[in-house]
Amino acid sequence: MKNIPSLFGSMVFHDDVMKEKLPKDIYKALKKTMIQGTHLELDVANVVASAMKDWAVEKGAAHFTHWFQPMTGITAEKHDSFISPCGSGKIIMEFSGKELVRGEPDASSFPSGGLRATFEARGYTVWDTTSYAFIKDDTLCIPTAFCSYSGEALDKKTPLLRSMEAIDKQALRILRLFGNTNTRRVVPEAGPEQEYFLIDKEMYLKRPDLIYTGRTLFGARPPKGQELDDHYFGSLKPRVSAFMKELDKELWKLGIYAKTEHNEVAPAQHELAPIYETVNSATDHNQLAMEIMKSIAGKHGLACLIHEKPFAGVNGSGKHNNWSISTDTGSNLFEPGNTPHENAQFLLFLVAVIKAVDDYQDLIRVSAVSAGNDHRIGANEAPPAIVSIFLGEELTEILESLEAKEDYQKKETKQMEIGVTVLPHFPKDTTDRNRTSPFAFTGNKFEFRMLGSAFSIADSNIVLNTAVAEILRQLADRLEQAEDFTSELAHMIRKYFREHKRIVFNGNNYSKEWEAEARKRGLSNLQTTVEALPVFIAPGSIELFTKHHVFTESELYSRYEILMEGYCKTIHIEALTMVDTVKGEIIPACIDYQNDLAKLLERKKNCGKYDTIMEEQLLSGLSRLSSGLIKKLDILENVLLESKGEQEISAQASFYRDKVFTAMSELRLIVDELETIVARKYWPFPSYAKLLYSVV
Ligand code: ADP
Ligand code: MG
Repeated sequence: MKNIPSLFGSMVFHDDVMKEKLPKDIYKALKKTMIQGTHLELDVANVVASAMKDWAVEKGAAHFTHWFQPMTGITAEKHDSFISPCGSGKIIMEFSGKELVRGEPDASSFPSGGLRATFEARGYTVWDTTSYAFIKDDTLCIPTAFCSYSGEALDKKTPLLRSMEAIDKQALRILRLFGNTNTRRVVPEAGPEQEYFLIDKEMYLKRPDLIYTGRTLFGARPPKGQELDDHYFGSLKPRVSAFMKELDKELWKLGIYAKTEHNEVAPAQHELAPIYETVNSATDHNQLAMEIMKSIAGKHGLACLIHEKPFAGVNGSGKHNNWSISTDTGSNLFEPGNTPHENAQFLLFLVAVIKAVDDYQDLIRVSAVSAGNDHRIGANEAPPAIVSIFLGEELTEILESLEAKEDYQKKETKQMEIGVTVLPHFPKDTTDRNRTSPFAFTGNKFEFRMLGSAFSIADSNIVLNTAVAEILRQLADRLEQAEDFTSELAHMIRKYFREHKRIVFNGNNYSKEWEAEARKRGLSNLQTTVEALPVFIAPGSIELFTKHHVFTESELYSRYEILMEGYCKTIHIEALTMVDTVKGEIIPACIDYQNDLAKLLERKKNCGKYDTIMEEQLLSGLSRLSSGLIKKLDILENVLLESKGEQEISAQASFYRDKVFTAMSELRLIVDELETIVARKYWPFPSYAKLLYSVV
């Protein structure tokens, strides 16, 4: 590949392009809006829009779209062309400041959770100047926030931006106390590691379950799974390698720092890791990456599966949200420093995160729930449903000895010892020292590992930013009033660690003992989406989010409704797909096979001289399983009818989890057993072996 530096960001209207294409005063005004959030005057917007359009047209674009992230979790766009009539059948290419800054998509078909009645279907998209415009599919995409007529957020970006403001404000208060006067902004940053599967597209198209639901609803175990661990970091198959190379190239054009690509644990599973950036850009870019992965896969005769659990019996896919906060002057606040002073500051931010994760463990858990992720969390391939922090032994010991000091010398500990000794630099582990921890400190960042692969990272970053902002606020309130800053600081570090160390766990999170131990420590264990989601609208959450202006109460309720509904709909569609394929394809396949066997049996019997044990055994096995199949199918169809009776959304969701999902699992058991008996040429779908091993 030639000339990567000039390829990188070539489809992005980034800072250098702005500088080049905009008059100086306009560039300055726009930068001010971007950095300080000031209002963008229409005449400035007009000049920016026109320059953006010229740049986009030069690159072959004829359309523009306001690109936004409704609460469906995926992105949305509505394309308009730049074309404008100018009399006598001619056209010019136009794009105004008004069109750049604000759009009015008919929003009635996006979920609003009751926030917006259909009679006022208008929704607004508003340019997010902090995220660069880019060209995708010959269309100029303007990243926008999406809100209702009355200003309520209908998307994931708006609350994310609000949470960034919250943590900025509180972290700055703390930095000022440490005498830092030159930092103007504190920004949370994220690097999401993305897992996915690649399978042959022809196979994919033969599986209605994959097409409709993203996961296989049937499939007997293949003779070989992931037990040999021979796929992890293995050499890339040529088709996969070609896919990854093209993917990198397309992502680079969009200014996405795709950095590492490798094979994952399960056969056909892979991972993409980008270089971290501000959580806003990281969120936009991860959404784009997921979309582009799917389209590039198609070009290579592959299908990219981003579902959390496409295949039973092998690992599912997750997303690791690496998260840190840093200053606009480039210092990472989770980086232990070189001086005692810096280290005291590091320890304060560290205990703030420990307290935030303990106080808001339920909300952190909720930020990673979905029907798809319920297949992983708590199973032995992903963290358990219990939220805990891995600090590593060294750091835990440091905090423990600091804490002990106060216990033993309560009275005379006026002067703090914290940071007197220079803290060691914690090696950034290359292999995730503790892969079982849901929330691991990895040197200078925290890695939250509960997310499902299909998630927008917005939700968990909203929770993290806001929870930590709240603890920093409490700290700043105390420390600003302190008579002796240094001793109060030491006291708070010890106090927070003592009160919240129950959330620290450095052992094996997959073990049964941890579950028992966590219960003793009083930690939550919210197993499924249905149990976890109500936390979103619990009084503590409402107080947290409204205090920091991240969500209003009605925005929280609307999100709760949407997530619960999404859960029910997902399982409903899966159940319908199952019923449809069992009736339409699996039963007829069983009939055909039995029919042929019965004919053969009869012929053999008529001859009178052949042994018929094989036919008889097969037929008896098939008829036993077929009657089981019909029974279980009947049960599933009946519970689906019953599900219509539940009115209240959480009761409905419980019904789907307890009744519908259970009926589906029982039906699947029989189908999978049938697959092992029915001759391959009768079975209507490609097997797991074909799906997992056909990309060469
Ligand atoms: P590893 O490969 O050992 O898990 P890396 O340091 O390579 O760790 O990082 C994995 C992910 O974490 C990458 O996406 C990377 O960009 C991101 N990351 C690294 N440092 C930070 C940081 N300070 N803040 C947020 N994300 C980070
Ligand atoms: Mg990792």
